[in-house]
Amino acid sequence: MGGKIGTDVELAAGLLRSGKPVGLPTETVYGLAANGLDPNAISQIFEIKNRPFFDPLILHVASIQQAMEFTHSWSEEAKQLAAAFWPGPLTLVLPKNNLVPDLVTSGNPTVAVRIPNHSIALELLQQLDFPLAAPSANPFGYVSPTTAMHVFDQLGDKVPYILDGGPCMRGLESTIVACLPNQQPKILRLGSISVHEISMVIGEIDESLTQNSNPSAPGQLDQHYSPYCKLEALENLTFAQTQLPTTAKKAILLFSKTKIQNQLVDIDNFTPKIDKFYLSENGDTNQAAQQLFSMLRQFDALKYTHVWFEWAPETGLGRAINDRLRRAAAKR
Ligand code: AMP
Ligand code: MG
Repeated sequence: MGGKIGTDVELAAGLLRSGKPVGLPTETVYGLAANGLDPNAISQIFEIKNRPFFDPLILHVASIQQAMEFTHSWSEEAKQLAAAFWPGPLTLVLPKNNLVPDLVTSGNPTVAVRIPNHSIALELLQQLDFPLAAPSANPFGYVSPTTAMHVFDQLGDKVPYILDGGPCMRGLESTIVACLPNQQPKILRLGSISVHEISMVIGEIDESLTQNSNPSAPGQLDQHYSPYCKLEALENLTFAQTQLPTTAKKAILLFSKTKIQNQLVDIDNFTPKIDKFYLSENGDTNQAAQQLFSMLRQFDALKYTHVWFEWAPETGLGRAINDRLRRAAAKR
């Protein structure tokens, strides 16, 4: 892998200043970062990821002050959310000003911004005099990366340098909240900060948009985050499927070791046995979130063909885990 992966922040800063993209560790997932004010640099992100231009990017900044250089009309709620969660896995969608290229926002008059909570990302952002546009560093539609190696495996030949900040502490993308003039704050995407944590700061929040398909959050596609193996909810597992030909390599992804109720088939007594994996053996939702994407990648790396998963409990962070599982399993 040569010198492609490392911790040289100066090197990364130099590449970014010369208009090149760089792999960026954050607490959520790894990003593919480029100068967020330079349309040429940004277009390379779309090209490398094969990302459609209708899917806007998040601008990463070093401070609230820097976020305010690119946005306007901050509501009280927006200020409260930034004060409570930044640096951290909360993205605010705010009215943008002219400095932000249309390529970042897919032509929208609003821009998504956040301050990532990762020492290397912050050090890098502080060295630069521009914000970083950075979507997740995976080919569009595939599982998001949570280690530098994940980025290298798929984009290594297209990215000059990947900063290594270790495995992501959160493992799930940021929660996105739109705070726009004359509108109630709205949740556009479930993520690492739970709805409950947000309502503790600004009171009840409109989350109707997360319930179904969502035209106003362009990236909220029904099918996303998908591994190559066939992924299906465990409640759909039938006895016939357990008898798939031996060329099929089957696994079950359980939320925890707690015995699940109401399953159609007795997964403990299959012959032949199906391999079992756990998002968190003792049912810790934070750990489950942190593990989810790397486990989905591992199924592909180990050449599993069929994986049945158990839903997380539908509360707190479990809702964001289930959101990703639902999209990962959606039909292409
Ligand atoms: P990614 O960085 O790959 O997690 O994708 C960022 C996501 O942020 C997009 O897919 C959108 O869902 C969302 N987003 C970014 N900018 C906007 C915006 N201006 N309005 C609404 N949603 C946005
Ligand atoms: Mg993504």
